[in-house]
Amino acid sequence: MTGDSDYPHLILRRGEERRLRGGHLWVFSNEVDVAKTPLTAFKPGEKIWIVDHAGKPLGTGYINPNTLICARLVDRAGHALDHSLISHRLGVALALRERLYAEPYYRLLFGESDGLPGLTVDRFGDIIVAQATTAGMEALREEASEALLQVLDPRVLVWKNDSSARAMEGLPDSVEVVHGALDAPAIAREGGVDFACDLINGQKTGWFYDQRGNRDRLAPYVHGKRVLDVFSYLGGWGLRAAAFGASAVDCVDVSGRAVAGIRDNIALNGMMDRVQAHAADAFDFLKAARAERRRWDVVILDPPAFVKRKKDFKEGALAYRRIAEAAMQVLERDGILIECSCSHHMPREVLLDGIQLGARHLDRFVQVLEPLSQSPDHPVHPAIPETNYLKGFITRVLPA
Ligand code: SAH
Repeated sequence: MTGDSDYPHLILRRGEERRLRGGHLWVFSNEVDVAKTPLTAFKPGEKIWIVDHAGKPLGTGYINPNTLICARLVDRAGHALDHSLISHRLGVALALRERLYAEPYYRLLFGESDGLPGLTVDRFGDIIVAQATTAGMEALREEASEALLQVLDPRVLVWKNDSSARAMEGLPDSVEVVHGALDAPAIAREGGVDFACDLINGQKTGWFYDQRGNRDRLAPYVHGKRVLDVFSYLGGWGLRAAAFGASAVDCVDVSGRAVAGIRDNIALNGMMDRVQAHAADAFDFLKAARAERRRWDVVILDPPAFVKRKKDFKEGALAYRRIAEAAMQVLERDGILIECSCSHHMPREVLLDGIQLGARHLDRFVQVLEPLSQSPDHPVHPAIPETNYLKGFITRVLPA
């Protein structure tokens, strides 16, 4: 270990190094030997040197004494947390994305899974959006900016620091353009379709690249079909379906801002003849459509996380089941239902159980055609289940 033990030491209690040695990166506050290294002695975001009870080093990381996950391991070899380490990790992350995608539209860096806990970076051509979700990464912001400019040479760099995780870390929200100027909307390009995204006011980092590989799977199911895209945001699934030859597409979102964005994207891609956007609550829309006996050949449900915290599990799981059942009520006799969940706390099997329960309730027969998961620009860290959050199914729903 090269060792940068100038950083203040954080000593773990006996046995608490095991999870870290097994590959995990998080230290929980009850795992710290607070008699030897009291948490109160650290400042939020401070760089640290993590050692086990016997003094054996685990590596360099950063700390926030005020959060349940109080420290994150960043480098097992003990390198300093600086511009050069961040540049190196960015380069490694970039090499994967360049292998995966012909064009520069993707999640460039996915936090822990790409070796930089607390940092998310999305790429929209020559516009880069970064998000810091921990005090430790916030403290490294200047170094991260410098590394992003050096590795990617973007025209624009935006820090979109408005994720809900920041409040827990005691960080204020702020959205700032720190390099260049955002004089036009950023474009996310997928399968030849351009999506204009609002990087200042949009959701998350502005676009959901995690569904890209799943949207690619629409091709065989939508040609010449009527498609309903529920929880559409900026029209991701719906406009991709139109590009794959769907005859008519309806996109539904409750947010007026999102629906305005869908309409801009319909115009941007010249799809006015085939795609319509509706501002409505999903449950209300499906209920009204059923009353009007409207039918679609393909219905896509890609809702926000219904299970945000573990304690919301029962209610959230029921919401996934209810929305699936409501969707089946507007589905053709031989229809395709796609349902996704981005809740880490919602197991894949429970999502499928909900589809099956809904189908039996309506006396229909379900065939699972394809399981879905997050695109490979959101790699899973095998030791950190939270990084494996997106699941879904493409199903065929028939009469019983
Ligand atoms: N399907 C999108 C991502 C969806 S994010 C994509 O592929 O990019 C979830 C969306 O659901 C948000 O745009 C949010 O505005 C919308 N939403 C949340 N609650 C809703 C509700 N009750 N009815 C309809 N839309 C809702």
